[in-house]
Amino acid sequence: MKTVHVSTGKPYDIFIERGLLDSCGKLLRGLTQATRVTIVCDTNVAPIYKQRVQSSLLTQGFSVNTHIFPAGEQNKTLDTIASIYSSLADFRMTRKDVIVALGGGVCGDMAGFAAASYLRGIDFLQIPTSLLAQVDSSVGGKTGVDLPQGKNLVGAFHQPLAVLIDPDTLSTLPDEFMRDGMGEVIKYGCIKDAEFFEFLERENAFKRLEDVIEVCVKIKRDVVSRDEREAGERMLLNFGHTLGHAIEKLSGFGGITHGMAVAVGMVMIANIGEERGITEPGTAERIASVCKKYGLPTSTRFSAHELAQAAMGDKKTALGSISPVMLKRIGESLIRKTALEDFERFITVP
Ligand code: MG
Repeated sequence: MKTVHVSTGKPYDIFIERGLLDSCGKLLRGLTQATRVTIVCDTNVAPIYKQRVQSSLLTQGFSVNTHIFPAGEQNKTLDTIASIYSSLADFRMTRKDVIVALGGGVCGDMAGFAAASYLRGIDFLQIPTSLLAQVDSSVGGKTGVDLPQGKNLVGAFHQPLAVLIDPDTLSTLPDEFMRDGMGEVIKYGCIKDAEFFEFLERENAFKRLEDVIEVCVKIKRDVVSRDEREAGERMLLNFGHTLGHAIEKLSGFGGITHGMAVAVGMVMIANIGEERGITEPGTAERIASVCKKYGLPTSTRFSAHELAQAAMGDKKTALGSISPVMLKRIGESLIRKTALEDFERFITVP
């Protein structure tokens, strides 16, 4: 088993092993005095994995409740959170009990936020089952829900008790979801690790998933432990996201997946960087090739004007400026702060 230790304010471990789902009860037993556990999962994940996780928890003497919510980003709402709270209260969960977030990013974000706020905060265990959640959203302690006005506008920083990653869960993922996760995987290479980027260029990442997950989780761990509350370095993880979020917004939530939008955002911002003399020439082309290799799009039909308008509505622009992450070269990233009024001009490439 691969173990990655995260030394945030409240330290925890990320365990990576095939088949780990069946020993989640034993692992959790070593981490808590809880008697009750509520598994939170969606209607897609429940029929595939709920039973295995439940059985593993029952063998360790936990009382187990399950709360299943309708799958989809459109259900990442306060209404779903309210239904989770009811389920926790009906099951008489106490402050020493544990929520298990079993599923993709949406599930982890919401179950995590329920854990951060129910009884002013209880423990939760992350069992991410999508590539995107395994390499990204399950690490770092960000939890939250969407509002009609935008994504993740309500939330809390709440570190999990542990993260259990079973790469076998990826074998049941539709191709579209694997591609989605690859957007973030490529991002890690771009911002921090040229060698890993070259590996993605050279090899078939899908054949080396355990290693890929470990590398990504370690990069995220390193960044997050140096900047737990996103005051500085952590912003580098937003490479490709300023324009990516704008594309997502313009496409309507659910119109394009997050990872695909990030792929387009990375290529675009690298291209802009080259035009502005910030990024080493040829970088955008390399990123585009890797994105294509893993089935990701590299361009969008939206204009610089539309993208700039959409990006300005993002919650991270509140301070009158916008700070896209740029690359110096593959593996080396920086934040380029731009005044809001200059942003459209900045992203317009002749
Ligand atoms: Mg992301």
